Amino acid sequence: MSNKYKVRAYCSSRICEYVHKEDVMVAINYETAYSLAQLYNDFPSKPSCPSCGEAISFYAHAVIEEPWLT
Ligand SMILES: [Zn+2]
Repeated sequence: MSNKYKVRAYCSSRICEYVHKEDVMVAINYETAYSLAQLYNDFPSKPSCPSCGEAISFYAHAVIEEPWLT
């Protein structure tokens, strides 16, 4: 099993669908990815969305690899 746990960034505005294409961070497990996402979300100066200017939010994202499919 080689699951990947990532932190991704997306726009916090409900009317904007911007999602940062590249992963912000790759973590060793979900707990780490989750706490990193929380940490980024607590930053006082968050990056703003290049599309609409709203604050960017971060979330943990698990990529489950299914070996029987590869
Ligand atoms: Zn936006």
